[in-house]
Amino acid sequence: MNKPKIVVLGAGYAGLTATRKLAQKLSPEEVEIVLINKHNYHYETTWLHEVAAGTINHNQARYMISDVVNPKRVRLIYDSVVEIKQDEQRVVLENSEVAYDYLVVALGFVTNTFGIKGMEENAFFIQDIESSRVIREHIEYKFAQYSSGESTDENDLTVLVGGGGFTGIEFVGELADKIPELCKKYDIPRSKARIINVEAAPSILPVFDDDLVSYAKKALEDRGVEFRIGAAISECTPEGFIVGEDNELIKAGTSVWTGGVTGSPVLAKSGFEVFRGKVTVDSDLRMPGSENIFILGDCSWTMNQETGKPYPPTGQLAMQEGAAVANNIKNLLYGLPLNDFAFDDKGTVASLGLSDGIGNIFSGIKLQGKAAAAMKKVVDDRALFSVGGAKVLLKKGKFRPF
Ligand code: FAD
Ligand code: NAD
Repeated sequence: MNKPKIVVLGAGYAGLTATRKLAQKLSPEEVEIVLINKHNYHYETTWLHEVAAGTINHNQARYMISDVVNPKRVRLIYDSVVEIKQDEQRVVLENSEVAYDYLVVALGFVTNTFGIKGMEENAFFIQDIESSRVIREHIEYKFAQYSSGESTDENDLTVLVGGGGFTGIEFVGELADKIPELCKKYDIPRSKARIINVEAAPSILPVFDDDLVSYAKKALEDRGVEFRIGAAISECTPEGFIVGEDNELIKAGTSVWTGGVTGSPVLAKSGFEVFRGKVTVDSDLRMPGSENIFILGDCSWTMNQETGKPYPPTGQLAMQEGAAVANNIKNLLYGLPLNDFAFDDKGTVASLGLSDGIGNIFSGIKLQGKAAAAMKKVVDDRALFSVGGAKVLLKKGKFRPF
């Protein structure tokens, strides 16, 4: 008799956790497990702003999937998912097709430009390792051009960041560390290089209380970050962003859009019912109306039953969902009832560069400064350990003092 086949799409926080837990919980005699991912490596999505600024090397933020998943136990396919054919229980990849009995969809996010004119064509996105590496290289190239005299336009030394949410603010925090280094390397006065953050809402980082937001803003301003708050970006041109009601053009050599994310386009392409690009899943993490499709992480909205609102999509949530789905698939196979997902929120920390940050942890404790920065490194290392294991933590962990 054929064994049931579990296919996991995406080897990010959710997919890799689900795969490793499934391989632990179910024997090779019971099930076949297949993991499909675009690349042969997993990357720490939560570190991409550091890769983009160049404050860490991209190799620190990724590791080989075959180092943490035994290819003899799990069939590894490195290919891009194009579409899920739900009626035929198969997944179409760029180069082949795979049938499934149980499907775990964990393909993460893509940057959302909300259709803003020129954004796709002219802005950079912090979306994956490659797109983040390109930002680092582009910023440095602009500094090198200016330093060599190939460019005399001082705007080339400006990095413009659109969106003052977590990604935008964590990114400008890294830039505030990196830009002085680049100025030194290319003999450019620090005063000539600018870092500008543009946010449409009346405040950056609205998730945090006002005192923490004020702390973050002042700390970043003290390190040379300029803010344009309450200024919506209406267009991106090759020269920079057009912002505000008077359509001011802010010029920059590098324009990075961090204005929001949405679920993988594979969901909509596959005919799944999406709300703002993601599927709102049932309390057991299944797609409504489906017996055998689970949707996790940034591809889904998981409702907090107490508040009636979805949990904010985070790495923390994605990892917990990965573990929960492995349990539920085992229950399904064993004919047991499925468990409702319960999120254990350990808090939120935002870094402001290597040695500064803000955070709320353990329901109510506020952190700022070095304590928050240290906590962020603990969180980052914990994720490495939880998804990749002890060897990965020792190889890639953030143990650098500050
Ligand atoms: P991901 O971890 O992004 O994984 C998706 C995987 O699917 C990737 O391996 C990708 O290559 C693969 N994939 C995508 N499309 C395809 C395809 N078509 N075919 C095959 N494979 C594909 N959250 C926190 O909790 N704390 C933080 O500090 C934090 N910092 C962040 C910093 C940044 C810069 C960003 C962008 C996000 C941050 N987040 C943070 C949010 C967090 O990273 C996401 O919520 C989390 O990564 C979601 O996990 P996931 O498994 O759904 O997707
Ligand atoms: P986001 O949606 O949280 O923030 C985007 C920001 O861009 C918002 O503040 C929005 O007002 C602004 N914006 C949108 N349109 C604009 C416009 N036209 N002009 C100017 N500003 C505009 O997106 P994000 O920061 O990429 O975060 C995505 C997800 O990842 C979130 O769920 C977040 O919680 C998570 N994340 C978490 C962490 C962390 O926990 N440390 C870090 C990064 C990301």
